[in-house]
Amino acid sequence: TLQGKTAVVTGSNSGIGLGIARALAGAGAHVVLNSFTDRDEDHALAADMAKEFGTEVRYIAADMSKGDDCRALIAKAGACDILVNNAGIQHVAPIDEFPVDKWNAIIAINLTSAFHTTAVALPMMRKAGWGRVVNIASAHGLTASPFKSAYIAAKHGVVGLSKTTALETAGQGITCNAICPGYVLTPLVEAQIPDQMKTHNMGREEVIKKVMLERQPSREFATVEQLGGTTVFLCSDAAAQITGTTISVDGGWTAM
Ligand code: NAD
Repeated sequence: TLQGKTAVVTGSNSGIGLGIARALAGAGAHVVLNSFTDRDEDHALAADMAKEFGTEVRYIAADMSKGDDCRALIAKAGACDILVNNAGIQHVAPIDEFPVDKWNAIIAINLTSAFHTTAVALPMMRKAGWGRVVNIASAHGLTASPFKSAYIAAKHGVVGLSKTTALETAGQGITCNAICPGYVLTPLVEAQIPDQMKTHNMGREEVIKKVMLERQPSREFATVEQLGGTTVFLCSDAAAQITGTTISVDGGWTAM
């Protein structure tokens, strides 16, 4: 159980981040939800989760594209035993046409934010003599695909940052690992299905299995619950010597 631990999950008002936040709350941790949006519904989500899991859940707005915001998020949380760097965006275009502002935003949100949050969280973890940093990379942190240069560069960077964080915290009760999901059916991915159905003139199931999950040998999406479970495992005593490595949750993608 993670009772008494405080977990900060960046980008957690939807998708994988929310699934991980729910799993950590279910394991008894106090949870800080985050996004840049700061809507009433974000605060309501935190209140509903607190009721559902009987643990403290707060929402703190911070824009992960801004270094000062990243650092303020951890400072405002007041404690950070478990840090999950999950916020991420995507843009698809060939390198020679890739918009520079999109490149910069993807590197900032998907990679540099984790540097800033980790920098503030590590002294807190060292003081507590215990800590877990879980970085959400991707199968694209280990392999490449065309037209996703910024995302793939950022996710490979996240894997590298995770290794260095592990070396700098080894023997201090702190671990750092990267989880590498394959395709997960989040609202982000769900939104691409109608377009793909049109483009390929296929039905929903066919487009999922033949187009979207073409590289995922299981031909099944990973779920946000499975990613939550993997994160809770990495926070457990069983995982105390797992550090500086990656765990793929990708239906066999990176075995190919
Ligand atoms: P999503 O769009 O559902 O969630 C992204 C989250 O990041 C949201 O909570 C959003 O509010 C937040 N976010 C975006 N920009 C932000 C900013 N500037 N500041 C703060 N928060 C911000 O997407 P998802 O699919 O749940 O993705 C979550 C993570 O998992 C990302 O890092 C993504 O790269 C990674 N991932 C997703 C998949 C997949 O198939 N869905 C696969 C591998 C890795």
